[in-house]
Amino acid sequence: MTVEHSSKFSLEHAQELDQADPLRHYREQFHLPIQKNGNPYFYFTGNSLGLQPKSTETYIRQELNDWKDLGVEGHFHAKNPWMPYHEFLTEKMARVVGAKPIEVVVMNTLSVNLHLMMASFYRPSPDRYKILIESDAFPSDKYAVQSQLRFHGYEEDGLLELRPKQGEELIRQEDIDQMIEEEGEKIALILIGCPNYYTGQVFDMKHIAALGHSKGCMVGFDLAHGAGNLDLSLHDSGVDFATWCTYKYLNSGPGSVGGCFVHERHANNIELPRFAGWWGHNKETRFNMRHDFDPIPGAEGWQLSNPPILSLAAILASLDIFDEVGMKALTTKSKKLTGYLEDLLHEIEDPNIKIITPSNPEERGCQLSIQVKNADKTLFNAISAKGVIADWREPDVIRVAPVPLYNSFSDVFHFAHILKTELESK
Ligand SMILES: *Cc1c(COP(=O)(O)O)cnc(C)c1O
Repeated sequence: MTVEHSSKFSLEHAQELDQADPLRHYREQFHLPIQKNGNPYFYFTGNSLGLQPKSTETYIRQELNDWKDLGVEGHFHAKNPWMPYHEFLTEKMARVVGAKPIEVVVMNTLSVNLHLMMASFYRPSPDRYKILIESDAFPSDKYAVQSQLRFHGYEEDGLLELRPKQGEELIRQEDIDQMIEEEGEKIALILIGCPNYYTGQVFDMKHIAALGHSKGCMVGFDLAHGAGNLDLSLHDSGVDFATWCTYKYLNSGPGSVGGCFVHERHANNIELPRFAGWWGHNKETRFNMRHDFDPIPGAEGWQLSNPPILSLAAILASLDIFDEVGMKALTTKSKKLTGYLEDLLHEIEDPNIKIITPSNPEERGCQLSIQVKNADKTLFNAISAKGVIADWREPDVIRVAPVPLYNSFSDVFHFAHILKTELESK
């Protein structure tokens, strides 16, 4: 052991912080992956795949049993009838993202929902057809946007990208403002990931929505890294739509169904074109099968298919935990936990690593992105061999997400200590 820099950089201090943490017991409600030596991994990839709540199995088993015992009758007579099953998730999900229930539905997966939203909210014309995104948007979002541009015949010059200034990692608000001021009249849709998956930068959604709307643009957000991580106020932010997945911070299991928000102002607008399916049709006449499409008001009206109940059961298991904790308490802990990680990384004071995530807690969630000098992946491999599960993102970043529901201050201490030891041994 090397001599530690300060009392903060000690396991004792981390354990004191754990003792004082009112949410510490939630860790026991999750399955932590176990190393060969019998100890849990130091798991920091809840931003990629959240851990499994111990209750998930019970929720899924209920549906398996009802299917076994009832067959098709389960649609109406299961303990939680499958016909309205998605509705059991709506209010809880709405609370997670700060929306009204009519604005939220759980359906499909993120990229699919993005396309469905663009079918309705990307309505290009020869004068206004551009889509504004971050230059370093998540690949799926970029492919989705490019394919929409191509579909409408605007691939030539339809894509506008927000770039950090030369030599910087983050996008400045003033550059976003300038872009919208200058190009706004030609922009049909603004679509931004919040936080950005790579840097962890959070954008001012309300400000961007207001500015975009003042220029006549539609404004959507991808909240894959925001839902269950940030204390969102989607309704008040005024954005037209948002999409997210539930397998990252919302712990619903690999490939699970996603979430979608459509602002209340569009709830009854039947003029909006949309790709329709029977599950978006008026519930009273859905099974009469001979009616013209009559959309359910609000986000539910964008549903296509009857949803996968086993996946929804897993989401419900997780949402019940979120509902009990609440996003306020969760983000209060999150700021402390990530702040502690930041403090320890600063104390390491090694020129080979640099945090590129904003230092202002209001401009980030729980994730810190650590840039490694010369894109040296051996550091990442070394900490992985010591039981850390983080992720390496090309070209040169280790992403670390201490998740307030199940990560502890001690986890953060162990991570920083392992990182420091590996840096010193280089
Ligand atoms: C994780 C993630 C996705 C994944 O999309 P799926 O359709 O769920 O596979 C898309 N966009 C962003 C920004 C993400 O972080």
